[in-house]
Amino acid sequence: MSRRAPGGVLRPQRLLHEATRDSARLRPPSGIGLDSPGVRMRMVERLRQLKLADDFVLSAFERVPRHRFVDSAFVPQAYEDTSLPIGHGQTISKPSVVARMLQLLAEAPGRLRGGAEVRLGRVLEIGTGCGYQAALLALLSERLTSVERIAALHHGAQARLSALKSELPLCSFQLLLADGSLGRLGVGPYDAIIAAAGGEAIPEAWLQHLAPGGRLVAPVARGAGGQRLMVVDRVRGAEGPQEWRLTECEGVSFVPLKSGVLV
Ligand code: SAH
Repeated sequence: MSRRAPGGVLRPQRLLHEATRDSARLRPPSGIGLDSPGVRMRMVERLRQLKLADDFVLSAFERVPRHRFVDSAFVPQAYEDTSLPIGHGQTISKPSVVARMLQLLAEAPGRLRGGAEVRLGRVLEIGTGCGYQAALLALLSERLTSVERIAALHHGAQARLSALKSELPLCSFQLLLADGSLGRLGVGPYDAIIAAAGGEAIPEAWLQHLAPGGRLVAPVARGAGGQRLMVVDRVRGAEGPQEWRLTECEGVSFVPLKSGVLV
């Protein structure tokens, strides 16, 4: 039966119905869909089976809604172990890679004070991106500084983290719009430094901002377009060239560390 009024004009009631239906269709799926806590828990279970991280690190993955950090088109893939585009040619890293890096920070020798509940301390992140890893870090750290060089990503992450603050017990955090390969890295020293972008070498400023007993985890270029994950421990109390101990880990694939700020 036609609901059109004489003259072909849609009745207001019908218009309202269609508008409601369209807004429901355009909204990213929620509740029982692909962004439900159940789907998130299944992702965490898969990470647990991979034995990449312990309960301390996985507790953060259980709580942070990854689907809120990606574009609505990617919500159905938000809890798959895959990297996803976040705009401006950048990507949010695979959950398994993030878990591995956070676990490396959690296992820093200087941090082991007996007990899984000891937090990561003062943390610096290079490459805020969409803010997902920053949110995980903000649940695991005492305070967090995160640096991003692309203004649009910086502002987006700021909005998401500010919204999440009322829902989760995030530590005090500061997001900076800056080139993280230079010295503008907030107030150091840091107990943990983590980079989500890889350059030719680890910038000197990062090494200097690392506290004695602290650990840095970063991808570094290793010939023919490959990258490797590097762990740098700053040995407590030591002096001279042996102060930073470097361990080369597995091959990885991160976006490049670039210079300058894009506003
Ligand atoms: N941890 C992020 C991953 C983002 S990808 C997330 O959860 O989304 C890496 C980010 O590093 C990109 O946003 C890129 O713009 C940023 N980046 C690259 N070079 C940088 C630099 N010199 N200073 C700060 N950020 C940088």
